Amino acid sequence: MPTPTHCPYCALQCGMTIKPGPVVEPREFPVNRGGLCQKGWTSAALLNTPGRLTTPLVKGEPASWEDALDHVAQRLQELRAEHGPDAVAVFGGGGLTNEKAYLLGKFARVALGTSQIDYNGRFCMSSAAAAGIRAFGVDRGLPFPVTDLANADAVLLIGANVAETMPPFVQHLRRAIDAGGLVVVDPRRTATAEQAAVHLAPTPGTDLALALGLLHVAVAEGHVDKDYLSRRTVGFEETWEVAARWWPEQVERVTGVSAADQRRAVAVLSRADNAYVLTARGTEQHASGSDMVSAWINLALALGLPGRSGSGFGCLTGQGNGQGGREHGQKADQLPGYRKIDDPAAREHVAEVWGVEPESLPGPGKSAYELLDSLGAGPRALMVFGSNVAVSAPRSAHVAERLAALDFLVVADFVLSETAVLADVVFPVTQWAEEGGTMTNLEGRVLLRGRAVTPPPGVRTDLEVLHELSVRLGQPAERFPVDEEAVFSELRKASAGGAADYAGISYERLRAGEALHWPCPDETHPGTPRLFLDRFAHADGKARMIAVDHRGPAELPDDDYPLSATTGRVLQHYQSGAQTRRIPELTAAVPEAFVEVHPDTAGRAGLGEGDVARVSSRRGEVLAKVRCVPGMRTDTVFLPFHFPGDQRANLITNPVLDPISRMPEFKVCAVRLEAVT
Ligand code: SF4
Repeated sequence: MPTPTHCPYCALQCGMTIKPGPVVEPREFPVNRGGLCQKGWTSAALLNTPGRLTTPLVKGEPASWEDALDHVAQRLQELRAEHGPDAVAVFGGGGLTNEKAYLLGKFARVALGTSQIDYNGRFCMSSAAAAGIRAFGVDRGLPFPVTDLANADAVLLIGANVAETMPPFVQHLRRAIDAGGLVVVDPRRTATAEQAAVHLAPTPGTDLALALGLLHVAVAEGHVDKDYLSRRTVGFEETWEVAARWWPEQVERVTGVSAADQRRAVAVLSRADNAYVLTARGTEQHASGSDMVSAWINLALALGLPGRSGSGFGCLTGQGNGQGGREHGQKADQLPGYRKIDDPAAREHVAEVWGVEPESLPGPGKSAYELLDSLGAGPRALMVFGSNVAVSAPRSAHVAERLAALDFLVVADFVLSETAVLADVVFPVTQWAEEGGTMTNLEGRVLLRGRAVTPPPGVRTDLEVLHELSVRLGQPAERFPVDEEAVFSELRKASAGGAADYAGISYERLRAGEALHWPCPDETHPGTPRLFLDRFAHADGKARMIAVDHRGPAELPDDDYPLSATTGRVLQHYQSGAQTRRIPELTAAVPEAFVEVHPDTAGRAGLGEGDVARVSSRRGEVLAKVRCVPGMRTDTVFLPFHFPGDQRANLITNPVLDPISRMPEFKVCAVRLEAVT
């Protein structure tokens, strides 16, 4: 019997069915309309991956579930007794279902009593979330359905290579592409940029100056929607005070984007009846990422796009449950329903649902990189669910040192990832199609992922692991349910009244095929596919324009490190590659790390196509095969971040943090390129 479900990878959450075999086939679903990318097509192979874990490991040796669970509970209790509750830290993931993300946050705050929980979404969407909340009062990646984009005459895509990262998404841009309305901002000439009418390739780390320049042109050439600004926004005057200083020629000097191209981009956007501005990691993963996104929001607001039917602003979420993952309490500073953990009313509401006293809930913890950086000196134990930090965290050699400094590392995964290899205890858990649960895709739509295949004997769900541990830590058994629908019912209550309100979303409604986008406050509510049409979520209903200025990357090229390095994804691989590197077809297509370099830059370093290059920064070096790409800027190299060992792009990345979102500056650092002799 074919089972309808969704792809295990990115936030588009393409619809697919799984047939006996197992075999994956695409199905009609609005975001993919019957399409899948190569990752989706080959995802069934994950279910029979040869390296599948089916037995708990204690110090690398097989152990029974009872022994492994008892051992973990005992060590956690010892460390808590000796060093206090914050001695145990928890690290979650943006690929976990809503139920897992919710129960993990509750497990940390209630069963462990620790404030030290964060997740890998901090490395993904945190700058977009911070900017969205600042401008609109609420953060939902796309405040409109993906299918709305199909009617756009113009789309400005910033730091998003959708043609490789989520290919079925491109069909929604077809009208804009055909109308000459696609504008792409990316330092690389990506597969997406190839389809653009205007490609702006700024020097890495200068996006904010470019956004100010486009706003300057829009104002100077009379394209600003003054009526919209006065009715729906505050802060234009202060914002313009900054942008007024960014003449196109000044912007050209800083970004390398010609004044003529800036004007062309604004012309494309301003002549469109329906236009969208969309950001992604390329402009968000910076030490000024929150301000960069605010600058793009300012441009969109000046053009009168957000909250207008047929137009808008949005951020393209990356991870499968990057949206839901940030709503249910696995973030250091948040409780379920997108509530702030230091808000007394929020604490009271969630504590009541959890059956505990509000005072017993810990306060905010450290953000993901700060948490990893403090391991050993701060937390003595770390529990990792749904993340592979040994590959995905910035300055990863240092992170590996911190992991080694722990007294106790526990990892739950379905394969022996690079992080699991380092663990004292590994719990073998179910993966996507072997378990039920909900995901919230990039447009805030809640999706039911049904169990399509029987898990191999020996594995348990993450929910079962949390249940078993919490009981051993002295919690009542009913406080941590193992049934995903029961967990979701509780999540609905915990989220009720919050920004991300799921109270009216039930499994029953989802099984019936209802398209439910949050907020959905009760069971008669149809959900909210489009936000902000009447008002933004601030008390006065108006959006905030934030006066932000360019400050450049934390690390600039110099004599020792004369190039800028930027990182990203390729079509065949996903995130740390822990899943996709196990799929033969994907690994055959892209088996190892590479570095994209302009041929002249490669030549100056004595390198040619296929040579192995050493790419060094102040934090480490990566070995990667040279790909000579004439479309690259001569001052920039690009590395994918999916590979382990000495091919880890994150050996060189800069962990300097955005002061608002605590996002590391993954997208730019200064490097040197050399031949390996
Ligand atoms: Fe769709 Fe993303 Fe899966 Fe590709 S990886 S099939 S774009 S959900």
